[in-house]
Amino acid sequence: MYRRYHLRTDSAPDVATLPSPFRVRVSKPGLAGFLLKEFVQYRGNRTIMLNRPCMYGVFSGPVGGFAPREHLCVGCLRCTTQYPEFVRILPNPARSFLGDSYFTPDRVDAVCYEARSGKIPVKGAGYRGPFGGDGWDGLWTDMSEIVRPTRDGIHGREFISTVIDIGAKPSRLTFADGKPSCEQPQLFSIPIPVLFDAPPASLLAETVVKTFTAAAEATETLIVLPLESLAKLAVRGRHIVPLITRARLGALHALDFEPAMLELDEWDQQLFAQVQAQFPRSVICLRLELPSTDAILQAAGAGVRVFHLLANYHGRGSDGRFATDLFREAHKALVAQRCRDEVTILGGGGIIAAEHVPKAIICGCDGVSLDTPLLVALQAEFAGEAVSRNTGSFKLPSRFTVGWGVMRITNLIASWRDQLLEVMGAMGLREVRRMRGELGRAMFQTDLEKEAFSDIAGYVS
Ligand code: SF4
Repeated sequence: MYRRYHLRTDSAPDVATLPSPFRVRVSKPGLAGFLLKEFVQYRGNRTIMLNRPCMYGVFSGPVGGFAPREHLCVGCLRCTTQYPEFVRILPNPARSFLGDSYFTPDRVDAVCYEARSGKIPVKGAGYRGPFGGDGWDGLWTDMSEIVRPTRDGIHGREFISTVIDIGAKPSRLTFADGKPSCEQPQLFSIPIPVLFDAPPASLLAETVVKTFTAAAEATETLIVLPLESLAKLAVRGRHIVPLITRARLGALHALDFEPAMLELDEWDQQLFAQVQAQFPRSVICLRLELPSTDAILQAAGAGVRVFHLLANYHGRGSDGRFATDLFREAHKALVAQRCRDEVTILGGGGIIAAEHVPKAIICGCDGVSLDTPLLVALQAEFAGEAVSRNTGSFKLPSRFTVGWGVMRITNLIASWRDQLLEVMGAMGLREVRRMRGELGRAMFQTDLEKEAFSDIAGYVS
């Protein structure tokens, strides 16, 4: 029976207090002089004198502007515009410990807001940042309404599907005597193009794993977990994707459930055949570090139909190129081999904001895996730069509980799905499967700059 996919969101306040984004600096002599002037000017009218310019209540404490309540400041700059002589709004240096050089404090703020509320962050008018940049910022989605109708999915008036298929699909159907004579599709669907990657080794503790698995179940997606940790942490279910290494293959015999998918940590034809024989109804996925075009083509030729391609936590492959280029390269290689439609690509690494999901899909992924955003949703602190999956280190808040964590991750996924619907609605797409590899709906900053400036002397691409 048809059931429309819906995630129930609820408020899940932060358990660790984040430092305020802004410092509100008020010169006390300046404020006192100003109040004195107002006292004379308005003949002691307290209503006028206490009517300070901040509608967010920063100056509404017991002693007003002499002890501003910084945590309420949203940085609208009205006060400093009106009283530049004695009010200054500064970035708070105490926030520099949030995230790292890639997962910047602003990104942390956005993810925490999404995890706290399940809503879409609205920045309001007046974006003053750059309109291009490195990595994901060098790719823009084409939302031209002139050439296609805008669809309305987020408000429920027109349905936009976010379902993806994972598994093997025949390139065409053939029939003999009225019956299909081609290989049968071996696939399953998940309602969102997002799955959860394994937490880093330092966080493979019981509470974290239980939170991730319960959140994956609640959002009806998948979670990759090392095979050896499943029995130890007593987690099971079709939504769990055991990550298999040759060294730990023995633990496969103890697996007491049939997962929808299993993931191999390396390409080994014998290992692939062995796992497929043991779980004939499960999809077998190959996990590869990017760039990996040759390995993908070799494994695809040997029958692998699902690939999980990974950049590091900063979205870079081992050769330093960014994930957008590497996903496109893998996608195009499979197109050139005429087997792209038979294969599923799941991409991961460096996907830390809602808009990165459609961008990765446009670059050729069928779905994406999330890593650090799940930890940030749980208010994990970064212990230095987190670049590699093996060495990245995080610390979770002490008041962390499974129920709270599940709600935070569910809120995050609900918010990201709504933002995906917004993007697809604006691009006129009815389903996310049609977005895969739709490079015609994307613009690349480097291409546009080349087109516009390459004839000008001194232009360097
Ligand atoms: S910047 Fe805006 S929110 Fe912050 S204190 Fe000034 S008026 Fe209030």
